Amino acid sequence: SRAWHLVARPHGWPKAEDFALRETPLAAPAEGRILVKNLHFSVDPYMRGRMNDVKSYTPPFQLDQPMDGGAVGVVVASNAEGFAEGDHVLHGLGWRDYADVPAQHAKKVDPNLAPLSTYLGVLGMPGLTAYAGLLEVASFKEGDAVFVSGAAGAVGSQVGQIAKLKGASRVIGSAGSDEKVKLLVEEYGFDAAFNYKNGDVAGQLKAAAPEGIDVYFDNVGGDHLEAAISRLNVHGRITVCGLISQYNATEPPAAPRNLAMIIGKRLRMQGMLVMDHQDMAPQFIQEVGGWIASGELKYRETFVEGVENGVDAFLGVLRGDNTGKMIVSVK
Ligand code: NDP
Repeated sequence: SRAWHLVARPHGWPKAEDFALRETPLAAPAEGRILVKNLHFSVDPYMRGRMNDVKSYTPPFQLDQPMDGGAVGVVVASNAEGFAEGDHVLHGLGWRDYADVPAQHAKKVDPNLAPLSTYLGVLGMPGLTAYAGLLEVASFKEGDAVFVSGAAGAVGSQVGQIAKLKGASRVIGSAGSDEKVKLLVEEYGFDAAFNYKNGDVAGQLKAAAPEGIDVYFDNVGGDHLEAAISRLNVHGRITVCGLISQYNATEPPAAPRNLAMIIGKRLRMQGMLVMDHQDMAPQFIQEVGGWIASGELKYRETFVEGVENGVDAFLGVLRGDNTGKMIVSVK
């Protein structure tokens, strides 16, 4: 089998040479383990942080070891009670074609209920991030005007649509291409959207939100965060979900320069980690699953084929090649 290893710690943008796809021997699973043929694995922005040797909420990837992350696959051999050949499972040993998984870290999923890839996206970790980050962390309430950055991505596209479905007065999104902006307005029902690459974010946000915003869901940081602070109304809330504009930065960011506004406007800014919100998972699956089934919530996925293209897919997420969740499908 083949697994991607981190072989050097990237400085700035990761390079192809920082990774190696290495053969690893396959063996029958030991007691309590299952052998899974991965069908899809996830490449996510947070993985860039795990490539640095710093203490964080998830441990760094180890050099010369396989990388890991979300994956779904089919059990090909089981030595664990409750799992049989042919079962489909969600687990944490992605970045490889076959995974030897401790059964207690595998969760059975039903391929007839939803396409398997959605357990990595709209019905998985990014979906719950959007749901909890908006409804709980940002204390969203009906009538709020919501701005979300990274709005055509996995988390962002769901934040905007959930806000609409829950009665937002106005939903504004930003994304990195005119095509993505069109998708937000024409398919996802955003009231306004702009391409942050077309010009200054503060000016474009002001034009899109003349009456201000009540919630900013931040996936990006930097000038987006600064612009949002300027546009937030009194008692506005910011969910700091991600700061992707600085994940490859080698210098500290220049913005936001207007933090003092937090005082006068009594803003609340709160960081979040999706793992703190597992208690909301059943409610999330039920509500979002219903919206997907009824067609009220739409989603896109960007598939890259082949384990050998895993690193390209990961770099693609950082570049914005994806619309919706980026998924690597294993043949
Ligand atoms: P996405 O599907 O949104 O993919 C990342 C997107 O970020 C790209 O498609 C790109 O779109 C955009 N992007 C890249 N560089 C920049 C930049 N410099 N400025 C603005 N946008 C940029 O990824 P996810 O939905 O998985 O994650 C979105 C955010 O949420 C990330 O910041 C991630 O770290 C965070 N996150 C946090 C979690 C938590 O628990 N706190 C859990 C899950 C995700 P474009 O073409 O628009 O530039």
